[in-house]
Amino acid sequence: MSDMDYLDGNAAAGLLSEVFAVDVTVARGKCAHCGNVSVIAQAHLWPDDHGMVLRCRICSDVIAMATERDGKLCLDLRGLDWLELEV
Ligand SMILES: [Zn+2]
Repeated sequence: MSDMDYLDGNAAAGLLSEVFAVDVTVARGKCAHCGNVSVIAQAHLWPDDHGMVLRCRICSDVIAMATERDGKLCLDLRGLDWLELEV
């Protein structure tokens, strides 16, 4: 993994907008590994053919994963202690 392999978290907006009715990139989340609190747009995103992996910009631990297959989107948010969305 190098610094040139990822996009910023704003690139997650398209896929996550299929699940959340609000803009998730401005949501704040707490990394379960290092405790960093920041907006999703500041995370580092690695896209692939089936989804994406979001990593904490401080410790590089995985904070969220999304996989799209057979018309279904699977979200794994276990890398976040919490996610705070504007309502
Ligand atoms: Zn972290």
